[in-house]
Amino acid sequence: MQEGVDRLIRFLEARSAVVLSGAGCSTESGIPDYRGPNGSLRKRTPMRYQQFVGSGEARSRYWARSMRGWPRFRQARPNPAHHALASLEAVGVVKGVITQNVDGLHQAAGSTRVLELHGSLAWVVCLGCGRREARSAIQDRLQELNPGFRAQVLEVAADGDAQLPAGAEIGFRVPECDRCGGVLKPDVVFFGENVPGPRVEEAWRLFGRGQVLLVVGSSLSVYSGRRFTMRALRDGVPVCIVNMGPTRSDEGARIKVEGRAGRILPELVRRFSGGPPFGRRG
Ligand code: NAD
Repeated sequence: MQEGVDRLIRFLEARSAVVLSGAGCSTESGIPDYRGPNGSLRKRTPMRYQQFVGSGEARSRYWARSMRGWPRFRQARPNPAHHALASLEAVGVVKGVITQNVDGLHQAAGSTRVLELHGSLAWVVCLGCGRREARSAIQDRLQELNPGFRAQVLEVAADGDAQLPAGAEIGFRVPECDRCGGVLKPDVVFFGENVPGPRVEEAWRLFGRGQVLLVVGSSLSVYSGRRFTMRALRDGVPVCIVNMGPTRSDEGARIKVEGRAGRILPELVRRFSGGPPFGRRG
């Protein structure tokens, strides 16, 4: 691994990077990923957009689990990987982060140029009138509507979700939009839903600011993230990867470092803190 880290450091000495981060960047903050060794997908499939909008029962299930999962999710704090990426931005090595995560931990660590490709769990949107509300306000309403709902959390899952005993959601009441009575949905891109076009455009603009694409903690199984490595490989932009386990773009990557992001990225900071003395970083 050390040899890979040294190669990555040498490579970034003369090049700026845009980061594509995934769930693996947040596992060291206690938020499970989908496809790592303890990933949530091994246990259950996440709710699809079509199920959520098409069935009141599915929404009860979703919100019951979310109400119990949210307190743990919102308590998560940035780990050394997030802090390292913020420091690398401050010294000019990193030009920005395109994240597939919905946890807000890059911003909490101090990264300033962050594009949340899949939205943020901190917000809820009305599918009727488009009004956005803070998730914390919805938590209060969930509690008012379901006083005493304390179904046992069997396991904390990805995305602020919690596994509850079978049938726990029966009779669970779901809030509607205060303004129009519409369906409320967390403002994140569900499986089966597309990333909004303007956001993708914004992501491409950010992608264009770096000379290297640095992937951190993503299996790149999902096309919405993999599209960036595909474009990079097509256009001759070098791809470097820091990930525990295989990714779908390992082949073609200029440098792949296997291991924990929270262990590897701080090494880059140690090397680069004090400013970018080497080469030109666009
Ligand atoms: P993924 O689960 O498909 O891949 C995560 C990868 O990170 C795996 O290969 C895993 O082995 C690796 N990994 C785990 N811990 C690591 C660590 N400490 N250091 C380095 N690598 C580590 O995740 P993905 O590619 O981001 O795709 C999953 C989708 O699920 C995303 O689109 C995202 O929206 C969503 N999601 C978000 C969160 C979050 O916001 N924290 C959590 C789970 C899922």
